[in-house]
Amino acid sequence: MVDKTGQCMCGAIKFTLRDVNTDFGGCHCKMCQRWSGSAMLTVTVPADSITIEGAENTKTFKSSDWAERSWCDKCGSGVWYRVTSPGPYSGTYHVPVGLLDDASGMKLVSEIFVDVKSPAFSYAEDTKKMTGAEVMAQFAPPEGE
Ligand SMILES: [Zn+2]
Ligand SMILES: [Zn+2]
Repeated sequence: MVDKTGQCMCGAIKFTLRDVNTDFGGCHCKMCQRWSGSAMLTVTVPADSITIEGAENTKTFKSSDWAERSWCDKCGSGVWYRVTSPGPYSGTYHVPVGLLDDASGMKLVSEIFVDVKSPAFSYAEDTKKMTGAEVMAQFAPPEGE
């Protein structure tokens, strides 16, 4: 677990992450491809472990029934994906690793939605890989909730 600081490209939004896991994951779903331009590589941060400076500079788009994505209104950097549905991940921030001032010590350990991954590139790390169906089975709220 480490503390990390980071910011958007222009610096209007800055944040500190406390006690975050050094392991992080990548998402290859088509929404993440379109939003990030490649795949989303993010570290998962509980809501009480992030301090945000300049939050008034964010814009937010509800991208699905379970999550929203925020970006800097000044420079356009995507700053986080946040889970809005109930469940164990409710309220968590998924912060792009590229926003960290220093990503040393961080390690890509998992990739999800590998069944729809872009055929144009692959990451060299030996990761735990899950298809979209496997992800939905593991994380979707039970029927009727
Ligand atoms: Zn910015
Ligand atoms: Zn995704």
